[in-house]
Amino acid sequence: MSGEEQKYVKDAFDTNWIAPLGPNVAGFEKDIESYLGDNSHVAVLSSGTGAIHLALDLLGVSSGDEVLCQSFTFAASANPITYLGASPVFIDSESDTWNMSPELLEKAIIDRTEKYRKPKAIIAVHLYGMPYKASEINNIARKYDIPVIEDSAEALGSKYFDRKCGTLGDLGIFSFNGNKIITTSGGGALVTNDPATREKAVFLATQARDNAPHYQHSHIGYNYRMSNILAGVGRGQMEVLYKRVEARRNNFKIYKENLSKYSDISFLEEPDGFYSNRWLSCILTSSFEQREAIRLGLMEDDIESRPLWKPMHLQPVFGDCEAYTDGTSEKLFEVGLCLPSGSNLSMSDLERTIQIIEKYSTR
Ligand SMILES: *Cc1c(COP(=O)(O)O)cnc(C)c1O
Repeated sequence: MSGEEQKYVKDAFDTNWIAPLGPNVAGFEKDIESYLGDNSHVAVLSSGTGAIHLALDLLGVSSGDEVLCQSFTFAASANPITYLGASPVFIDSESDTWNMSPELLEKAIIDRTEKYRKPKAIIAVHLYGMPYKASEINNIARKYDIPVIEDSAEALGSKYFDRKCGTLGDLGIFSFNGNKIITTSGGGALVTNDPATREKAVFLATQARDNAPHYQHSHIGYNYRMSNILAGVGRGQMEVLYKRVEARRNNFKIYKENLSKYSDISFLEEPDGFYSNRWLSCILTSSFEQREAIRLGLMEDDIESRPLWKPMHLQPVFGDCEAYTDGTSEKLFEVGLCLPSGSNLSMSDLERTIQIIEKYSTR
């Protein structure tokens, strides 16, 4: 926490705005909107997962539909597809950004349309904070007239040329879960450039109450709005977003400066015009064995590291789903490792980690 959060939470107590909504909710939304620019309209919600669920609902996804989803991601990108009775179809990554491959996306659209029906939506992810190839993905999406949900849960603070991540899709989502770059302990947001869509999202997120003096409902709703207390935490966190991004990017820089001299360690570079918040610093090793040696070596010294996300098309729960793959994400999963990446790591924390990795690496 930055310290400012307590001021906003205290305001909520002092003014007795403990009941769900209140001035911090509107304030947090304004803070995110002014950060994002680009005519964005934001609804803050109880989680990023809930935001994806609402986004799919807003796009009319329902039973029997297919949604194309990046395979190399956290399960929360794909789970909400199934809440609506729809099926995920997984798309592999390309190696420049580790995100959705435009080629495989187009191949999947053509193939699914031929064999079943046109997919209803696309979920592309800025994994670890690295933007996906938004122009290429958007061009394909427009060509076939399929909307894009931009899963920006890990990418608040990242940029794609002069635009902020979260504003690149038809609908964007953020997460403020405890492990993300800023947090409200739990929370999320939906981003749109259309005020009416935002209104509809808020309506659905508050149990879809019709405008009547009694409780009347003509739609199925959700209880997905963020509370005024947590929005207070979010306002304090927005004040330090820039510092958090700076700290995370600095972690990456130090790892890279010290480890790139090893021929069997490599890093994900930013393509021209791409700016990553470096939510997590990751390395690629030369083999599964080297990756495990490093991971276990770190663990011996009480340092936690973790393999990269296990692709969704390899997850037991999604075993029956269609997938368009070329081995890219499987390889990343096999040889990649997420290193300690917190915004509060000290230079000696980083050095300790680097020294252990060096033991298992060759020049
Ligand atoms: C964290 C995360 C989510 C889900 O956000 P929650 O707020 O935890 O529900 C979705 N997608 C990705 C890629 C994530 O990392």
